[in-house]
Amino acid sequence: MKVYFLGTGTSQGIPVIGSNHPVCKSTDFKDKRLRVSVWVSWENHSFVIDCGPDFRQQMLFSNCQKVDGILFTHEHSDHTAGLDDIRPFNFKQGEIPIYAHQRVIDNLKKRFDYVFETINRYPGAPCVKTIEVINNQPFSIGDKTAIPIDVMHAGLQVFGYRIDDFAYLTDVKTIEDAEIEKLKNLKVLVINALREESHFAHFNLQEALDFITLVQPKKAYITHISHILGFHEEVQKRLPENVFLAYDNLEITI
Ligand SMILES: [Zn+2]
Repeated sequence: MKVYFLGTGTSQGIPVIGSNHPVCKSTDFKDKRLRVSVWVSWENHSFVIDCGPDFRQQMLFSNCQKVDGILFTHEHSDHTAGLDDIRPFNFKQGEIPIYAHQRVIDNLKKRFDYVFETINRYPGAPCVKTIEVINNQPFSIGDKTAIPIDVMHAGLQVFGYRIDDFAYLTDVKTIEDAEIEKLKNLKVLVINALREESHFAHFNLQEALDFITLVQPKKAYITHISHILGFHEEVQKRLPENVFLAYDNLEITI
């Protein structure tokens, strides 16, 4: 299974528009971060987790040729705003399954009402098939199983997903013990860390490192990164040897 980091930045992306922060001015390609998403593929299967506002350029740059389904973590715009840009895949493949909590499906129906229109539907509108994700109910994607991991982003429920020995968790601030149990024996854990300072809705770096110590994956990759965390190269030097800052267009094989 291949995991391709399509984006690793927090909600504004890096560089931030209009920012003179040194990280936003950095010429290191690892300091340029689109909004978070991963592309998970194996054999002839191809799924993405989240579909944020950078989806179009992510699909172009990664040369992704098809999307068999989109697994949504939650409804925030940095994770969903690219939904309109699935249309080229619709034209090639037909409707695309989207997997999400019922609350997220309801939110998408409000924000992208034309996608779900059945009467006088515009022929070129995006075309999706909704599949509700319920905690403790693993579901099939291709010939693999996705296990939902229920976490909290301050007051908002968010799903992470485990697929084989890979787990992708983003926008986590708290997680119950019963959910941590689902993360045993991982080869790769992806987890969010925003910055050094604490934040009401996101792990900071220390909280993410403590979580990695608790879960004990073989390797961990950090994502959903703010420019104020610092330069990629400098932060990476301070991390334990099995912990890596993810960066855009990094591809790992699991
Ligand atoms: Zn987010």
